[in-house]
Amino acid sequence: MKRLSILGSTGSIGTQTLSVVRENKDLKVEALAAKSNIDLLEQQAREFKPKLVCVYEKEAAKTLKDRLKDTKIRVAAGMEGLIEAAVIKEADIVVGAVVGMIGIRPTIEAIKAGKDIALANKETLVCAGHLIMPLVKKTGVKLLPVDSEHSAIFQCLHGEEQNKVSRILLTASGGPFRGYTKEMLKNVRPEDALKHPNWSMGAKITIDSSTMVNKGLEVMEARWLFNVPYDKIEVVVQPQSIIHSMVEFEDGGIKAQLGTPDMRLPIAYALFYPDRRPLSGDRLDFSKLSAITLEKPDLEVFEGLKIAYDAGKRGGTAPTVFNAANEFAVSEFLKGRLSYLGIIECIKTALSSVPFTEKPSLKCILDTEEKTYEVLRSCQL
Ligand code: NDP
Ligand code: MG
Repeated sequence: MKRLSILGSTGSIGTQTLSVVRENKDLKVEALAAKSNIDLLEQQAREFKPKLVCVYEKEAAKTLKDRLKDTKIRVAAGMEGLIEAAVIKEADIVVGAVVGMIGIRPTIEAIKAGKDIALANKETLVCAGHLIMPLVKKTGVKLLPVDSEHSAIFQCLHGEEQNKVSRILLTASGGPFRGYTKEMLKNVRPEDALKHPNWSMGAKITIDSSTMVNKGLEVMEARWLFNVPYDKIEVVVQPQSIIHSMVEFEDGGIKAQLGTPDMRLPIAYALFYPDRRPLSGDRLDFSKLSAITLEKPDLEVFEGLKIAYDAGKRGGTAPTVFNAANEFAVSEFLKGRLSYLGIIECIKTALSSVPFTEKPSLKCILDTEEKTYEVLRSCQL
C-alpha cells in the first residue's frame, strides 16, 4: 500500500491524481489540501476518507470543519495546515500539485520529513532548486517529476545512469498563438489565451503555455532535476504534443517518450516508479497521425522564454523575480487589469528593479517574492 498526501487536490493535477488512485486499490489518500474550493474538497474527503484535510483560507476551513462534523477527518488551515498535510506521518509520498510559489515551504518540509515527492509544482523548483536539490540528496528521498516533459526525460534516462547526456530536447506545443506576430498578440484576451490546443490544465499554466513562460519555467526545472547546464537544454516546438521530450546521449543517439497528451501517465509513473501500471485511455494510432512536426521557437515573439534562460543563467534571486512577476502579472491579466503583452513587461520591469541576491536563503526567496509584488503594484501597469 502506498500512502499519499495530495497538496492541490482540487486542481487539474490533483483531480487527475485522484482518478489514478481510483484505478489502483493499493493507493491510499492520507491528506488532501486546497486553497478554498471546499465543495470539491468535501466530496473528495467523503470519497477518499483521508485523516487530514487542509483548506488554506481560514474562513473556508471553518465552514468545511463544520460540514465534516459527522466524520473523523481533521480539518486544518493556513500555511500551518498545508505543512501539516505535507509532513503527515502516515504518508509515504507527497504530490506537489498546488500552483505557484506557495508550494516551496510545504515541499521543503515534506523532504525534511523523509517523504518522496511527486512534483508538478514547478514554481517551487524554479525559485528554490538550489535549496531543494541538496536537501533531496542529503535525505535520500525521491524527487519524481510529474510535469509531462520532465517525466518524459526521466523515462528516457531510466537505465542510462552511467551514460553522458549531451543535450536535453524539451518539447513545447507552441500554444494557441504559435506563428503569431507581436502585433497580433496585442489584443489577446484571457478567453483567447485560455484555449490550449492540446492540454486541459489550470488557468495559470494555460496562460503560461500561451506566453511560453511555462517553457521557460520548465527549462529551469530541468536544470535542477537533471543537473544539466542551460546550454545543454534546447527547446523544440512540437505542435501535436506527441513527443513529450527527448534526451540525446554523447554517441548522438536520441531517446524520446511519446504518447497521447494525458497527464495521468506521468502522474502514475511518478507514483509507481520504476513500475508501470495499466492505464485506461486513448492510445496513439500512427495510421491516423498526419504528421509529427518539429520547429524552433520564435524567441522574438515569445520573449518570455528568452528572458527565462537569462534569469536561469544569472541564478540567485533572478528566477524568483521572474516567477513572482509572472504570477502577479498572470493574475492581473486574468482579472482584466493588464494587457497580454503587459505580462512580459512586468517580468522585465521586476528583473530590472528588484535587488539581486546571489545565494538566497528561503527567507530571502520569500522576501524577494514580496518585494517583486510591491514593485509591480507601485508601477503604472
Ligand atoms: P490548478 O489551478 O488547476 O489547481 C491548483 C491547485 O492548487 C488547486 O487545488 C488549488 O486549490 C490549490 N492551491 C492554490 N493555492 C493554494 C494555497 N495557497 N494553499 C493550498 N492549495 C492551494 O493548477 P494545475 O493543477 O493546472 O497546476 C498545478 C501545478 O502543476 C502548477 O505548478 C502547474 O504548473 C503544474 N503542472 C500542471 C499541469 C497540468 O496539466 N495541469 C502540467 C504540468 C505541470 P483551490 O481549487 O481551492 O483554488
Ligand atoms: Mg509541462
